[in-house]
Amino acid sequence: MQPLSAYKWPDAQGKFGDYGGKYIPETLVSALEHLDTVYNQLKQQPSFQNELQDLQNNYNGRPTPLSFASRLTEYYGKAKIYLKREDLCHTGAHKLNNTLGQILLAKHTGKKRIIAETGAGQHGVATATVCAKFGLQCVVYMGKLDTQRQQMNVFRMKMLGAEVRPVSSGMQTLKDATNEAIRDWVANVDDTHYIIGSVVGPHPYPAIVRDFQSIIGRETRQQIRQIENAFPDYLLACVGGGSNAIGMFYPFMADESVNMVGVEAAGQGIESQKHCATLSMGTPGIFQGMRTYLLQAAEGQIAEVHSISAGLDYPGVGPEHSFLKDRKRVTYRSVSDEEALQASVLLAQNEGILPALETAHAVAYLPYLMPSTTREQIVIINISGRGDKDLNTLIKNLDGSLL
Ligand SMILES: *Cc1c(COP(=O)(O)O)cnc(C)c1O
Repeated sequence: MQPLSAYKWPDAQGKFGDYGGKYIPETLVSALEHLDTVYNQLKQQPSFQNELQDLQNNYNGRPTPLSFASRLTEYYGKAKIYLKREDLCHTGAHKLNNTLGQILLAKHTGKKRIIAETGAGQHGVATATVCAKFGLQCVVYMGKLDTQRQQMNVFRMKMLGAEVRPVSSGMQTLKDATNEAIRDWVANVDDTHYIIGSVVGPHPYPAIVRDFQSIIGRETRQQIRQIENAFPDYLLACVGGGSNAIGMFYPFMADESVNMVGVEAAGQGIESQKHCATLSMGTPGIFQGMRTYLLQAAEGQIAEVHSISAGLDYPGVGPEHSFLKDRKRVTYRSVSDEEALQASVLLAQNEGILPALETAHAVAYLPYLMPSTTREQIVIINISGRGDKDLNTLIKNLDGSLL
């Protein structure tokens, strides 16, 4: 087996060990091969990297700070806790790191039309944003149920000039929106680029999205060495599809002293069937173009999933995470809706930062981790997004329990 110090995945077939690959309709084979070739050329070009870096700095607001959480650190009295502030990115989360990279790919491949799928609407907004910035046509597929649950984001996308197409098939949620986006891509592949929102789907998407999100970990590496002249002992991030987590983890992959924990949503409990702890409870299978861990019923039907945070509510996970779980390089744990809510209050009241409910899952792992740490150690949490978008859910669940 290849040692992790020479971590070079995926392989030429687009596989992370037994995971990943390309399980796709014939009509998409050449489009994905073309995307792979063009991406591999572009990423070597300094002019492409400079153009992207300029957008990251002057449009997205990077580098984001690495903030010392002094009161949270005092609260536990153990390792020092730092927060990587992806919540300060334009549009409020790490999503733009990826959509900015992909819109440049579209520009360089001469594509005039962009499509995307979205669940909670965050990736749809990030895609509509870069389309407006670059003057490209934008169509976003969204389950009809999700368009009703996330009316604010639907309107945001419309304000940005995107067309939102509600999908009435199946459960009318993210999985159905993704199927519809794939159908559109098959029909319009010549002039259309499909911007996938996480490290999922067929090769080369998981690698492309990881590379664009890795700016999180690269900055963190530099910042923690500047501040502490040390490496972190633990990295924590929430895992939905897995893009903010891999973005933080990947640049540290060869540093064996760095422990990494991905935190999934246990919803109402992993025994309840109302969760989306894919890596903790799932089994390998094939879904949306990739082989990965999935939550599936006995007959192989994709299971219904639940989380209080709309962004973690996905029955699959990026194939690289499946690989890292089996190789035991990353530990995956899950916390419940209730624990995430409590963690939101903890971070808000100790640090003045109201995290997204997705992010709150990473924070909610602290009670499990901190007792085993020492004062000399360093813990970094990826604060993937802001809680402002979750106010309705927070009011429903917490109003009355606060002062
Ligand atoms: C979309 C989103 C997530 C989940 O997606 P990943 O690909 O797992 O990162 C997590 N946090 C926030 C704030 C999000 O917007």
